[in-house]
Amino acid sequence: MDGIVTRVADEVDDPAFDIAFYEVKDVTGRQTDPLTDAVNMVSCHGDSSRADDPGLQTVDDEGRLATRDRPYFDWGYVCPTNEDYRLELLELLEHCAERSGAIRLDDVGFARGEYCRCDRCQIEFDTADEDDWWSWRTSTITRFVHDAADRIDGRTYLTVYPDPYPGHLERRSGLSLAAVEPAIDEVVVPLYDMAYTTTYWLEALASGFVDSLTSADLGVEVYGIDIDLENLVHAVEVAEAYADSVYVAYDAAAARAVAEARHD
Ligand SMILES: [Zn+2]
Repeated sequence: MDGIVTRVADEVDDPAFDIAFYEVKDVTGRQTDPLTDAVNMVSCHGDSSRADDPGLQTVDDEGRLATRDRPYFDWGYVCPTNEDYRLELLELLEHCAERSGAIRLDDVGFARGEYCRCDRCQIEFDTADEDDWWSWRTSTITRFVHDAADRIDGRTYLTVYPDPYPGHLERRSGLSLAAVEPAIDEVVVPLYDMAYTTTYWLEALASGFVDSLTSADLGVEVYGIDIDLENLVHAVEVAEAYADSVYVAYDAAAARAVAEARHD
């Protein structure tokens, strides 16, 4: 077990952990100051607070928004082609980079496969080099990841949706692992469960990502809140069999307990 994910600034200094990911901007849109002794995390295109803003709205071909009140959306998404928002994100990353070298890019990409069909995206596609809409989406997100990584001097982490089946991630969010891997050092996959009473799926998904990556390391993030310690330890052990690093999210006490149990 290599580290924690936290929203609590005081937890990042805990000597029990090598790495602490700290949420500077999360999917609700909440923002706080980056820390000097953490890997600051920035939710890029997941932002519930902005998903309704004119100019930032992302829509499918029936004009439906990607907001929390819709099925399948646990949080809201914004359109990745809004230039002001893109620059705002890059500035935030520069601000984080001034504090701490390593940064984790969270929630990067289009909301789902049906997005984005807003007028601006349509114009961008019509004037783009790509003839194919899917290729245009992938180029758009690839460009963003490379531009973001250019602002990061230290280790660059990228969170991805936990679907390693070939082509799925690209269809879903425009994120091609092969295209972004040269710009990043580690892909972090959240594999969350509320109990971890079974782990075969964790093994299947983690091993799928091992096959999907060529140069980047694999990190797996497990959910720590209210999980039976024995189950959590087992989940971490299964993840460690495949991943280069394993992180426990949102409960530093649980993460410490896992670390202690492993040392016994
Ligand atoms: Zn759009």
